[in-house]
Amino acid sequence: MDVLAYASPAAKAPFERTTVQRRDVGPRDVLLDIKAAGICHSDIHTGRDEWGPATYPLVPGHEIAGIITEVGSEVTRHRVGDRVGIGCLVDSCRTCEHCERGLEQYCLNGAVGTYNSTGKDGLPTYGGYSAQLVVDQDFALTIPDALELDAAAPLLCAGITVYSPLNHWQASPGKQVAIVGMGGLGHMGVQIARAMGAEVSVISQTRSKEEDGRRFGAEHYYATSEDGTYKRLRNRFDLIINTVSATLPMRSYLSMLRLDGTMVNVGAPSEPMEVPAFSLMGNRRSWAGSSIGGIPETQEMLDFCALHGIAAVIEKIGPDQIDEAWDRVVASDVRYRFVIDTTQIT
Ligand code: NAP
Ligand code: ZN
Repeated sequence: MDVLAYASPAAKAPFERTTVQRRDVGPRDVLLDIKAAGICHSDIHTGRDEWGPATYPLVPGHEIAGIITEVGSEVTRHRVGDRVGIGCLVDSCRTCEHCERGLEQYCLNGAVGTYNSTGKDGLPTYGGYSAQLVVDQDFALTIPDALELDAAAPLLCAGITVYSPLNHWQASPGKQVAIVGMGGLGHMGVQIARAMGAEVSVISQTRSKEEDGRRFGAEHYYATSEDGTYKRLRNRFDLIINTVSATLPMRSYLSMLRLDGTMVNVGAPSEPMEVPAFSLMGNRRSWAGSSIGGIPETQEMLDFCALHGIAAVIEKIGPDQIDEAWDRVVASDVRYRFVIDTTQIT
């Protein structure tokens, strides 16, 4: 079936309204009308070839919220009219050890990305900057009624990407947790870590987001542009979640970990970062990474956010404003997630 979308025809080229081909609804598929799509910094890394050459035309978007309009004959999980979310994955092998544990993001046979991938139907995958999407029922998450669709969309990537490591490394009462970078991922990290009961600090470049950081639940707020910040924070945190899209001076950040503390990298800069061995040896520190989250944990995160009244703080834009929004994300000038009103893609 032909579907309207906004696509980038080549690396760094402006978006154009176009038509892409998706498969027809199969027995286990659902078709949704996309109501909102978040803009993740990963869309930009991909569309500017910062992670290597992408496949064009590129229709990004893996923070998708919509309403089901058709279901295949064997679909049992969803019904027409259901509010669903699609994140970064649209398929995986489902039989490997990791898939069996609900860790589809680490599928040993390669999960299928929502865009810039090839689906099991042999077609290129196209993401949420689009009017409609066909997806296997198992990769459509239920969006609880308590969440608005547009503010829920960013949870499908930004939310789960910070929820998963906060959960795994047990952000909880008595733990000192720092969130580095308060953009799309970071502002979700502050809210979720606080709801898990941890004492939360924001480490931002400037003081410009301080009031918001405290409103999201941070008890402490630090600006790295101020002299002495790194020194002041030595041996301070149990867990640091680094959401920054650029490289950081790792020596300074690792020195902030107290005994047995862990710094988790979720930010994905294109350039490598240097980690001196001595920065890890002191205080028996760990440096780890984490990638999005599996399907069961993503549903758990959506339910957790609904229960705690947490959602993304968004700036809604029309599809004709995507290029401008991308530039503003790169300039750290977004409060705190752009969401495209995909109902305007007509
Ligand atoms: P974003 O909205 O642009 O937020 C990144 C934040 O990092 C900015 O708001 C800014 O916060 C800070 N920052 C930017 N440039 C910086 C610099 N040069 N030095 C220090 N701080 C800087 O991006 P996002 O959508 O949250 O994504 C963040 C990163 O996570 C991207 O690299 C993205 O690809 C990656 N990501 C990874 C996963 C995963 O599965 N691991 C999933 C999604 C995204 P302040 O203004 O507060 O300083
Ligand atoms: Zn993302």
